[in-house]
Amino acid sequence: MESTVKLEPLTESDQALLNKIEQEAGTSINLCYQCGKCSAGCPAGFAMDYTPRQVIRMLQLGLINEALSAEGIWICASCETCSERCPRGVDIASIMDALRREALFRGIVSDKKVAVFNEAFLAGVRNFGRTYEAGLLLTHNLKTWQPFKDAELGLPMMSRGKVHLFPARIKGRGQVKKIFERVEKIRGEQ
Ligand code: SF4
Ligand code: SF4
Repeated sequence: MESTVKLEPLTESDQALLNKIEQEAGTSINLCYQCGKCSAGCPAGFAMDYTPRQVIRMLQLGLINEALSAEGIWICASCETCSERCPRGVDIASIMDALRREALFRGIVSDKKVAVFNEAFLAGVRNFGRTYEAGLLLTHNLKTWQPFKDAELGLPMMSRGKVHLFPARIKGRGQVKKIFERVEKIRGEQ
């Protein structure tokens, strides 16, 4: 027999959490009429446990913990195809982003390696104003106890100029840092 989900009325704290996610994403999940265009165009949807449309539906049904625990939110590549395609103007990519932040904040991350990658990526952007691929890979490999993962690709990629040993620094990195600090302050993480 297939498992069923019993829906309960939203508690005050769940409603507050849902409002927070919508506010941070700057969008409303209730606009979604489940047409599925977002999932149809999602390049990573094939690898997700729950597609973008399903994540939005879970939120509409008040299954917030299920949405926060979905692996799909970490597989999302933030390409924004879903948000561009949505006929109702739902910014699904921003919802995915808000869910990731909340999942990190609550320590309910289904795949720790992806969370480490996410953290290392953001640290690079914070420090240098843009991503620093070599540092990202090194940090990720060390923190996930797989120091030589993909090591054989390092030299060929460097020789083709795809990855650089030292980070590039943009001019406005001070402003980028301020954006991070402001967001952390808003979220009460400082
Ligand atoms: S494209 Fe928009 S309206 Fe359609 S399912 Fe996705 S979020 Fe909902
Ligand atoms: S932003 Fe994420 S969910 Fe949306 S289409 Fe891209 S990979 Fe899929």
